[in-house]
Amino acid sequence: MKEQNLKEMYGKLGVAPETYDYGARVLDGLRERFAEIDRVAEYNQGKVLEAMRRNRVSAAHFAATTGYGYNDEGRDTLERVYADVFHTEAALVRPQITCGTHALTVALSANLLPGDELLSPAGAPYDTLKEVIGIRESRCSLKEYGVSYRQADLNPDGTFDYPAIREAIGPRTKLVTIQRSKGYDTRPSFSVAQIGELISFCRSVKADVKIMVDNCYGEFVEPLEPSDMGADMVVGSLIKNPGGGLAPIGGYICGSAECVERCAYRLSAPGLGQEVGANLGLMPAFYQGLFLAPTVTAGALKGAIFAAALYEPLGFACVPGAAEPRHDIIQAVTLGGPEAMSAFCLGIQSAAPVDSYVTPVPGDMPGYDAPVIMAAGAFVQGSSIELSADGPIRPPYAVYFQGGLTWYHAKTGILLSLQKLLDAGLTRLP
Ligand SMILES: *Cc1c(COP(=O)(O)O)cnc(C)c1O
Repeated sequence: MKEQNLKEMYGKLGVAPETYDYGARVLDGLRERFAEIDRVAEYNQGKVLEAMRRNRVSAAHFAATTGYGYNDEGRDTLERVYADVFHTEAALVRPQITCGTHALTVALSANLLPGDELLSPAGAPYDTLKEVIGIRESRCSLKEYGVSYRQADLNPDGTFDYPAIREAIGPRTKLVTIQRSKGYDTRPSFSVAQIGELISFCRSVKADVKIMVDNCYGEFVEPLEPSDMGADMVVGSLIKNPGGGLAPIGGYICGSAECVERCAYRLSAPGLGQEVGANLGLMPAFYQGLFLAPTVTAGALKGAIFAAALYEPLGFACVPGAAEPRHDIIQAVTLGGPEAMSAFCLGIQSAAPVDSYVTPVPGDMPGYDAPVIMAAGAFVQGSSIELSADGPIRPPYAVYFQGGLTWYHAKTGILLSLQKLLDAGLTRLP
């Protein structure tokens, strides 16, 4: 096929020829990075396939269960598959876990008792966890139940402040929470190797401290996961990476048998634990989504790198920078003002297969302290492994861009976001 045909197709989608050409020049410089992403995806595909073969996944595991869900072989086998993929003793993977925040809440509240202290050694946690922990007052927070919280902030250069962490670990420190992805922050995300160093350091100060990693957005970005570095629990959402875009709900906690059992007791009831919880017919989506997750994550990663490489030369600060290594699928682009945030999000929205005709406007969101603008035209509501962009309307006016079930869709969305900025006179091509 001729390049010209492709350019014409992008024209129909709303991308001007000059914008397409600029994108093509940017892509020429990304070939080697994309090849490396493909190698990691291939490795992780093997890891998932091997776990499915070892656990003898069969069509019988796709059957729906209702009611109590006793003896649900599909659900139990899926949990063994997850445990094998993450190299943990046990896993809890459930549609009854409504989102990532819920999964994290279950993991924390199951493993912290009154009088215990929680430590975040790498700065403030994700926005929605502030109520969960009680950093922002809330009913039913850990604080209300007598669990205290300490935080060691990162050094100004984004590295761990080891002396401060050593000082913050005390006799009551029971659990350390480490967030892999930057979330709505402009700090760098952490590599699995960095998380491993931090885990070793915390254990060297206090051998029996439990480590939980908020793994949201990080799954399958690298060949190893934080559970390979000794985390007691890794926790995430199925409408992000590991659901592969097919899971319509759900969360997971993979970890030691002891921690995961406590989580199951907290999620259902003491004594019932993992024995109950019907799968409601979601097993095909959960299995197939996990199977696709390595390649879907790879597409999203390519999109993130393309966005940085496209926007950085135009003078917009990007975290991570275009040339930096990736540890999650989120790309922050600092746009400098609310108008540019709206234009960017309009471009992403107009590229969506669903609700492409909608104009995103900022609104209040539970758990966030500033109005948030969101662009998402997703098959699964709120799914952020699908192409989406969002950000709180506050300085530095950064949008957090992520996802794309296919690399080609991510590319289209990013080119259209730039097109909207160009159309509004908010930037110029170099
Ligand atoms: C998305 C996310 C969460 C919370 O997940 P929800 O599904 O939105 O509740 C927590 N931590 C990080 C780093 C995230 O990216």
